[in-house]
Amino acid sequence: MQSESEETVICAKCKQPNDPGLERCVRCQGHLYVACRACGAKNQRVLTKCRSCGSALHRIKRKRKMKNLYVEGHVWRIIVVCILFVMGIIAWVVVRHYFFNRTV
Ligand SMILES: [Zn+2]
Ligand SMILES: [Zn+2]
Repeated sequence: MQSESEETVICAKCKQPNDPGLERCVRCQGHLYVACRACGAKNQRVLTKCRSCGSALHRIKRKRKMKNLYVEGHVWRIIVVCILFVMGIIAWVVVRHYFFNRTV
């Protein structure tokens, strides 16, 4: 008799149950196992923590970084538009001043 947890390995991408011993999912060819970065133990990819040492197997902070980059890009766009606007005003004032000095 086998224990229930060892019977099938569920794919982390498409949730397809796979036979134990397979390295890749039969449906999407995604990796079923991931190596722990802390101790090197082989863990099922659906797990979030290493079975042997308990450290996190996946990084979750990626989405936050993407959001920060988007906000930074937005702020930079506003700054560039402001600089161009100010430069335009300065150029307009200088040109106007130059013309006034010539004509008057
Ligand atoms: Zn799959
Ligand atoms: Zn580990």
